[in-house]
Amino acid sequence: MSATAEIIKPAENPFDSMMSRFDVAAKLLNLSEGLYNVLKSPAKQVIVSLPVTMDDGRIEVFEGFRVVHNINLGPAKGGIRYSMDVHLDEVKALAAWMTWKCAVSNIPFGGGKGGIKCDPRKMSVGELERLTRAYTRAMIDVFGPEKDIPAPDMGTGPREMAWLMDQYSKLVGYSSPAVVTGKPLVMGGSKGRVEATGRGVMVATRSAMLKMGLNPFKSTCAVQGFGNVGSISAKLIEQQGLKIVAISDVTGGYYNPNGINVAEAIAYSQAHANQLEGFPGAEKISNAQLLELDVDVLVPAAMEDQITKHNAANIKAKLIVEGANGPVAASADDILNEKGVMVVPDILANAGGVTVSYFEWVQNRLGYFWTEERVNRRADRNMKEAFETVYQTSLKYNCNLRIAAYIVAIDKVAQVTQLRGGI
Ligand code: GLU
Repeated sequence: MSATAEIIKPAENPFDSMMSRFDVAAKLLNLSEGLYNVLKSPAKQVIVSLPVTMDDGRIEVFEGFRVVHNINLGPAKGGIRYSMDVHLDEVKALAAWMTWKCAVSNIPFGGGKGGIKCDPRKMSVGELERLTRAYTRAMIDVFGPEKDIPAPDMGTGPREMAWLMDQYSKLVGYSSPAVVTGKPLVMGGSKGRVEATGRGVMVATRSAMLKMGLNPFKSTCAVQGFGNVGSISAKLIEQQGLKIVAISDVTGGYYNPNGINVAEAIAYSQAHANQLEGFPGAEKISNAQLLELDVDVLVPAAMEDQITKHNAANIKAKLIVEGANGPVAASADDILNEKGVMVVPDILANAGGVTVSYFEWVQNRLGYFWTEERVNRRADRNMKEAFETVYQTSLKYNCNLRIAAYIVAIDKVAQVTQLRGGI
C-alpha cells in the first residue's frame, strides 16, 4: 500500500474526535450536565434510500443522509458531500462542526450536514442529476430557507446546487433560491462564494502569522489537497508573499523547494481532468511526505484525520491552518501542543465558506446583490474578528486555539439554549 493510500483514508471516528474536543471545552466552561447532553445530541438524523436508474438501465439504490445538529442560533446550515466514505458518524461530526463553525463566526445559523455514499467520479452527469433530484425529493420536509439550507461540500459544487434548487422549487411550486447556497452566479449565487473558503483560510493564515511574528515574504507553505479549498488557499496564500513549496491531490504530492507557480498548477489540473498527475517542474512525493515537510505553514485542505498520533511527532510546520474539516485527529492534539505548533482549527479557519453562504442567503432574501468587493470586505472583517475573539479566549483560558474556538462556540449556543428555554 502506498503512503498516499495510507494517509488519505480517515483513521479515527470523526464523531469521537469532535466529542473529545467538546468535552475539554465543556469542562473549562463548567457546562452543566443537562446542557452538555443537549448540545452533544444531534437534533435530527435522517437516512434515506435513493433508487436511481443508471445509464445502462440498471436501478441502483444509494444511501443518503442529512443530520441537523442544532438549530438554536438559526436554520441548519451545511454542505452535502458525495463520497464513498460517507457514513452516519462522519455526517454527525460534520453537522456538529457546522454548529460550532457558525457560532464562532457570528453567523445566525445552526449546524447541519448531508451526504450520499457514492463515487461521483464514476457517475455520468445524468446519473448525478437524477441522484441529486432523488435526494432533494427525499429531503423535501427537511430542507427549507427557514429550516435547513444545504451547500456544496466534497464532491459537489454549483451544478448540484442548481439541480437541488430547481427540484425543491418545483416541489413547492415557486422559485426558492434561498433554500440552498453555493449556486451558480446567474441563478442567485453570491459573488465571491467559490473563492470564499480559500480566502478565509488565507485571512486566518495571515492573522496567525501576525501573532507569531512570521514574515510572509520569508515563509514557506505546503498545501494538502487541490480541490476548491486547497487550490484557492494556495493561490491566495502565495499572493501574500509565501513560497508554496508543495501541493497535492489524490494522485500524490508535488514538491519544489524553489516554489510552485500555483496559477500554472491550477491551469494544469483543469486541463487534465482536475488532476495534477504529471505536473512538470516538481518532484513527486506522497501526501504523507507533504505533511512532514520542513515548512513554516501547513494547510491540510483534503479531508479528515490526515494528521494523527502516528505522524504528528514528525510535523515540522510552525503553523497549521485547517482548510479541511477535521484534518487533525484528536489523538494528535497533545503532540502538536507539546511541540508548540499553532493550529488554527477548522471551525475557524475554513468558516469563510459558510460566511459567504450566509451572505448569499441574505442577498437571496433581499432580492438585491452585492459587489464582490463588498462580499470580500465583509467576509475578511468577519474572519479577522472571529480570529481575534478566539485568540483572546485562548489567552484567557490558557488553552490552544482549537479549544478556545470550541469554548466561544459552545458558550454562545449554551447561552441561547438557556435563554430560549422550553426544555
Ligand atoms: N461545506 C462547507 C463547510 O463545511 C460550506 C457549508 C455552507 O456553506 O453551508 O463549511
